[in-house]
Amino acid sequence: MAAQTDTYTALVNQPLGQKIAAALGLPQPAVLRRYEPGQRLVEGSVLVLGDGHAADEAAAVLLDWDLDVRRQPSPSDRFSAVIACYDNVVAPGDLSATTLHLGSVQRQLGPSARVITVFRDPAGTDRPATRAARQGVEGMTRSLAHEMRRGGTANGIILGQDIALSAPGAVGALRFLLSARSAFVSGQFIPVGTDGGSRPADWERPLAGKVAVVTGAARGIGAAIAETLHRDGATIVGVDVPAAGEALAGVVNRLSGTALQLDITAPDAGRRILAHCAERHGRMDIVVHNAGITRDKKLANMDAARWDAVMAVNIESQLAMNREFLAASGQGVASDGLRIAALASTSGIAGNAGQTNYAASKAGVMGMVAATARLMAGVGIGGDEGGGTINAVAPGFIETEMTARIPLATREVGRRLNSLQQGGQPVDVAEAIAFLVSDAAGGTSGHTLRVCGQGLMGA
Ligand code: NAD
Repeated sequence: MAAQTDTYTALVNQPLGQKIAAALGLPQPAVLRRYEPGQRLVEGSVLVLGDGHAADEAAAVLLDWDLDVRRQPSPSDRFSAVIACYDNVVAPGDLSATTLHLGSVQRQLGPSARVITVFRDPAGTDRPATRAARQGVEGMTRSLAHEMRRGGTANGIILGQDIALSAPGAVGALRFLLSARSAFVSGQFIPVGTDGGSRPADWERPLAGKVAVVTGAARGIGAAIAETLHRDGATIVGVDVPAAGEALAGVVNRLSGTALQLDITAPDAGRRILAHCAERHGRMDIVVHNAGITRDKKLANMDAARWDAVMAVNIESQLAMNREFLAASGQGVASDGLRIAALASTSGIAGNAGQTNYAASKAGVMGMVAATARLMAGVGIGGDEGGGTINAVAPGFIETEMTARIPLATREVGRRLNSLQQGGQPVDVAEAIAFLVSDAAGGTSGHTLRVCGQGLMGA
């Protein structure tokens, strides 16, 4: 599952290519640091800035992970990451000290460095000045993400009103954003709204003992998700259409999982998945709604077949299956702390010519996730520390068969027009999904996380 680098990125990372690109002012995408089992969480020192509780909590968590933590930088230090804590800001004037401090160490950051801001939910206050300050951190973080170089990223953790950075979900988000698992996530925020979830016994195998259903697992992003969840310890149930049966068998056999040939638009799809999990594995802990299709046409040329097929596969099937899963949760097969993740798309956020049907379905996924989170926090499923969660991931430009079909010139623009100046890999989406379905993300629900290198183009 080694991540591949596109030809241009490989070229500009050779000495001669680097010189030519620099001389011509061409983009110089870096080879991103990606996760490998056994890898160090970060290579070098981590600087913690800020003077509220969160900074002390961050330092304690990082020390617990045996990292080299600094609170006061010296000019000769080199950092792999900076955690900038703004949890105590009450007015815009409070932003400057920590922010300028952060700016003063920018040139001391190594390759694939991480900047992580920590602040409280802007919507959690009625005070205009406090909300302005908190929201100001968002704007600053997004701009800094555009300014990061050499594969570096900047992201934020948004803490709910009474949530400490030492809460399990906040610790999980911190670790994901620090790690190479978040290589293609930049300019994004992970809200931690509850103190649900738990720290895994083993951070290398956070899904040990879980049974995970992945739809559309025969190829592309779905196959990468199946491989990544398996690497993290889960037993895989791969679902795909009968026509993809051979490819599906190839994927699940490699992962010692089981295959279920099924069109997810079938009215009994949810029930058949539950029955398969009951019979073959005795449980179902994780569902990843990955299967999706495009049928692109400008709206003036759109026909009912294209519109209806995209809506049926991309959103209506997910709604129908979730109804079955929620009804069954806590009653045998579907675990009480069920974790659901769904594939949205940056098309559903920014829109894309020729994709009214696809964007409607993917924006629909984001809405579905937000509303279902509230259902899952209710009785039966969720509601306590073992509660269920549902989140979405919105990939931007990812190097797959789907994007390989885009005409070359458009594809090249799509690749370069983001802060990391390259397309993402299927594994980048898979890493975000693996995090969101883990118990370490138990404090986050109803959220859509973009995996797009801070670009908005892509299928
Ligand atoms: P893909 O076309 O390579 O794979 C999709 C898989 O889903 C296939 O194996 C297909 O057989 C299966 N599938 C389709 N309809 C099905 C059905 N009715 N029942 C069961 N299985 C079905 O696509 P991909 O590029 O790997 O994309 C995976 C997901 O990510 C999709 O939801 C897609 O919309 C989303 N996405 C992809 C990109 C990208 O850049 N590739 C960007 C944003 C979002």
